[in-house]
Amino acid sequence: MADFFRFENRTTIKATLRMETALSVGSRTSFLPAGSDLPVMKTPEGIPYIPGSSLKGVVRAYTERLLRTMDTLEKKYQGQRVWACDPLDTKKCCVPGDIKKKLFQEAKEVDAEFTSLLYKESCTACRLFGSPWLASRVAFQDAFLQNASEMLRLTEIRDGVGIDRDLGTAKTNVKYDFETVPAGACFGITIVVENATGWEVGLLLLALEAMRKGELPLGGKTTRGVGWGKLEEITVQRIEESDILLYLAGQKEPETLDPKDLIGQFTGALR
Ligand SMILES: [Zn+2]
Repeated sequence: MADFFRFENRTTIKATLRMETALSVGSRTSFLPAGSDLPVMKTPEGIPYIPGSSLKGVVRAYTERLLRTMDTLEKKYQGQRVWACDPLDTKKCCVPGDIKKKLFQEAKEVDAEFTSLLYKESCTACRLFGSPWLASRVAFQDAFLQNASEMLRLTEIRDGVGIDRDLGTAKTNVKYDFETVPAGACFGITIVVENATGWEVGLLLLALEAMRKGELPLGGKTTRGVGWGKLEEITVQRIEESDILLYLAGQKEPETLDPKDLIGQFTGALR
């Protein structure tokens, strides 16, 4: 299992997200319901950024869909099920409360052993992205606008018409304005993965492939042509435990890996 108490390796994925359409900006004073509609925030200086938690949410949801497909196809990795639970459903999640209680009683050494038992029970998605009972090994940094100087305006106000969420039709008399970051905006993406195997990084990169191809939109207004972009210049760097001292001392650069190789490690290991 992944070690949560010791450094084994760190993989850093960097990329640029170039928006092909506008991206809607959230605001705490918005009249819109909060939640998935709000992928972009602004710093006090007015610089738009996509919160890391929003990016993680989009990538996790897509990864879970991939994993559910693999599970339906009965794909296995080293004999283990490859799957995703519903972590927010207390009954359908991979480690329900009664199992947690049982594992806690079984564990003699509370910290390490309990974590190890929880890890064994957890689904592939929770193992990587975390759950209320397991720390995440993937961290998405806030993605700030990189090309502010190239842009005429950092944000624009759009005229919106209320859409009935259930019917998908315009609600009459419901009108509001929403703020967007115009098309062409580039955001710097950094994802740090701790103590992951090449296989797990491959799974994450496979999910990012959808973003690279421009098939994974951000935010809740995507049916109205907002939130579509493509990932460019994806780089992967990895530092191993054996090199950590030299790395921290600035005497060794992380190893650069080919995203395609890592994706191949994931797909190639499925049986
Ligand atoms: Zn799970």
